[in-house]
Amino acid sequence: MAIYDGIKEIEEELLKCMKCGNCQAVCPIYKETKAEASVARGKIRLAEAVLKGEIGYTPGIAKRFDLCLTCEACAANCPCGVKPIRLSWQLGRVSTTKGFAHSKKAAFTLLRHPKLFDLGLRMGGTFQGLVFSKKDKGMSPRFPIGIESRRSYLPWPPNP
Ligand code: SF4
Ligand code: SF4
Repeated sequence: MAIYDGIKEIEEELLKCMKCGNCQAVCPIYKETKAEASVARGKIRLAEAVLKGEIGYTPGIAKRFDLCLTCEACAANCPCGVKPIRLSWQLGRVSTTKGFAHSKKAAFTLLRHPKLFDLGLRMGGTFQGLVFSKKDKGMSPRFPIGIESRRSYLPWPPNP
């Protein structure tokens, strides 16, 4: 399977987008970043450019694609019935294959080794305070570890 086959599978979905910008009005990520590239319309445009070979799938582009809460507010507000979350899933797969999604790759590697995964969860529960600090009702990373630092994450339970 070629690296962009997953995106090609949903190309018809992308073509339904008429670039109206309705998704921009409801996207919580856009509200925060004010960056077109982080809203559904911008991601669709970037994905089209990647498929056409106009731009490369770089770590910087992958980071923009990764900015999504999967809330589906864009889909609910889309007059064309586009489901941008399908694009997010496929882009996540490309990022993992290319080795840009380090935390996801590590998690999938651990899932293939249940005992190691269990140990990893226990260690995470015990030492999470070294890596995360309290934020709102959850926690956020103290330093860059490859996950979005502005999000608030649920604390890990001490026992998996
Ligand atoms: S609301 Fe739908 S059609 Fe309009 S720009 Fe967003 S994804 Fe495209
Ligand atoms: S699913 Fe992602 S792109 Fe769509 S509105 Fe929510 S955060 Fe924005």
